Amino acid sequence: MIAEEQKKDIRRLSREQVTEYFLSIGEKAFRAKQVYEWLWKKAVKDFDEMTNISIQTRKQLKKDFVINQIAVDQMQRSSDGTIKNAIKLYDDKVVESVLIPAKKRITACVSSQVGCSLDCNFCATARLKRMRNLNPDEIYDQVVAIKDQSELYFDRPLTNIVFMGMGEPLLNYNNVLAAIDKITNPKGLGMSPKRITLSTVGIPKMIKKLADDEVKFNLAVSLHSGIDEVRSRVMPINDKSPLEDLADSLRYWYEKTQRKVTYEYVVWRGINDTEKDARALVKFCKVIPSKVNIIEYNPIDDGEFQQASVEAVAMYKVMLEQNDIVVNVRHSRGKDIDAACGQLANKN
Ligand code: SAH
Repeated sequence: MIAEEQKKDIRRLSREQVTEYFLSIGEKAFRAKQVYEWLWKKAVKDFDEMTNISIQTRKQLKKDFVINQIAVDQMQRSSDGTIKNAIKLYDDKVVESVLIPAKKRITACVSSQVGCSLDCNFCATARLKRMRNLNPDEIYDQVVAIKDQSELYFDRPLTNIVFMGMGEPLLNYNNVLAAIDKITNPKGLGMSPKRITLSTVGIPKMIKKLADDEVKFNLAVSLHSGIDEVRSRVMPINDKSPLEDLADSLRYWYEKTQRKVTYEYVVWRGINDTEKDARALVKFCKVIPSKVNIIEYNPIDDGEFQQASVEAVAMYKVMLEQNDIVVNVRHSRGKDIDAACGQLANKN
């Protein structure tokens, strides 16, 4: 018998590997199909829930594998309905996932890494160092947990998923794509990729890879400035990947996918709130077809960054619209429980 802590998480195995395993213990290949469905589509947490598998086989499975689980360690509800979950992983690390209810949709905001290696100066998660990447099942399970909450508390299905929680999804590329594959697969949650948005600081090489891999989900880029000096000041990654490289990768993306990109943009007082800044954004928006989400700034502490005036945001909106660029001004959700963009940092 394999020691408990050395057992492999069965969900690290591909479908083929599960099949091989069953053949190796003298079982029929279709058992693999059944078990795989229990593991992903039904997302059971215990082999004993696999009721169409014989007790003998379940025993064998328990001998050889574990099913690592995430656990909702703490759940906070905002006055606006937003739910923030502190999710404990098998190794006691914690990430956060958020359920955001709106009139027409319920969105799950999920994490892709424990902590983050990027140093965006305005983001609370950046204060944590990157501890590790999440595994595909850990990303998938966050979606399942939020889906369950959506049904339980709102009596409505989960409609959208955004990779805007902790971490940089393109620095955990394979696991994020493997999770999305399970989320969209009819053998998993069967959700449409059109309802999934991956948000990135904009890593040109990886954006090109997404295009090459012909992904079907939406791409959002955290832009925050169309001027290199300003962008580098708020997002040091811009020193490594300046706007021209980003633009180049986006042209490649559009050529291959014919799909628009969304820019996320915060307007800060005294940093990017002038007409010159807005003009630079307009110019960048012309690189490929795009739209802009202006997001409200969620203060994280010392006051270096402050939300710009209502007038400055209005100026941006007018200028974008005059240039036929679709713009949404978004108000934050879940601020009272630190669940809003950039506030995820395991305060508890
Ligand atoms: N690493 C990815 C996803 C996580 S951040 C990315 O950068 O896109 C999700 C979004 O929240 C990003 O657009 C980010 O710029 C924004 N954000 C971070 N901190 C924020 C804050 N304090 N207020 C408002 N938005 C913030």
